[in-house]
Amino acid sequence: MKITDKLHSYHELSGKPTFSFEYFVPKTEQGVQNLYDRMDRMYEASLPQFVDITWNAGGGSNSTNRGITQQSTDLVATAQSVLGLETCMHLTCTNMPVQQIDNALESAFQSGCQNLLALRGDPPRGPLGGGDGDEWQPVEGGFRHASDLVRYIRAKYGDHFNIGVAGYPEGHPEEKNPENNLLYLREKVDAGADFIITQMFYDAGRFVEWCRQVRQAGVEVPIIPGIMPITTFAAFLRRASWGSVHIPQRFLDVLTPIKDDDELVREMGTALVVQMCQTVLDSGYVNHLHIYTMNLEKAPLMILERLRLLPTDAELVGTGASLLPWRKSL
Ligand code: FAD
Repeated sequence: MKITDKLHSYHELSGKPTFSFEYFVPKTEQGVQNLYDRMDRMYEASLPQFVDITWNAGGGSNSTNRGITQQSTDLVATAQSVLGLETCMHLTCTNMPVQQIDNALESAFQSGCQNLLALRGDPPRGPLGGGDGDEWQPVEGGFRHASDLVRYIRAKYGDHFNIGVAGYPEGHPEEKNPENNLLYLREKVDAGADFIITQMFYDAGRFVEWCRQVRQAGVEVPIIPGIMPITTFAAFLRRASWGSVHIPQRFLDVLTPIKDDDELVREMGTALVVQMCQTVLDSGYVNHLHIYTMNLEKAPLMILERLRLLPTDAELVGTGASLLPWRKSL
């Protein structure tokens, strides 16, 4: 089912905010198997509206690209058609000749996946890949901007896919002119995108102000905030730096004195993220949270538990699942 239809009908029925989980493709076979188990457990404990699978996040060299993209499409196919999860496949233009894009789209189509996040992608060995963020270059005959990819998918598959695009509440790091951020976001939506998933952020005020500007610019599609849990102090700083996002002083005041105690950082970091999520939900601009799990279970579920968004055991009756093991571990 398409994500926007799913969210619309759920919110009509319950009025309750919903959530989804992002996972990345592990590097080893064993990692992939562990991820399937984790996705299954997290689904049973929380009933997310959908899950999404990143596309070779961080870019990759041409020689390894084919194998890595195959892993993404395999994972999407298994999540969608074996685990039965509503799945959204990320797809980027980095190192992707049109033929490979066609193969990936065909694989998503064949597996029953109806949701895509169309992205330009990071440069190979770019910030997410731990490198120095080289300038992004299109492949010969390939696409330059995410809007080109959105247009291509629409032309080739009509309305079959629900297409999401990336939004940047604090601007895209490469964009020198801040006014262009809204202009290019609008271009992606005009090209046929159905929803926006945002870059992570920690400053709820900046996020809400950006949503106001997005709406003022005439962009009406659902905005889905990307939420990054806080697990350790080092990861918190590193991810904020990757995303080039502002860290409010309050976060540093709370977390710096306890930075060497991972468990306490996760506890206090969760409280800060929960407060941030509540502010964005209260703003009225959003009613769905997209959690970057980083393939971890505990921190995402702690956030949802504290926001009271996890289903009750009574609500899980009939799904065969139970929250009790989770409640004990939180
Ligand atoms: P675009 O919208 O094409 O923008 C890229 C740059 O080009 C921006 O600076 C923009 O201002 C500029 N631009 C856009 N349109 C035009 C135009 N018409 N003329 C001139 N300049 C223009 N990366 C991965 O590799 N794999 C993933 O799975 C992945 N998942 C992501 C999920 C989310 C929710 C987000 C927010 C990001 C994700 N990324 C992923 C990172 C993303 O690929 C990078 O941020 C990338 O640098 C930009 O991608 P984009 O789709 O926003 O590109």
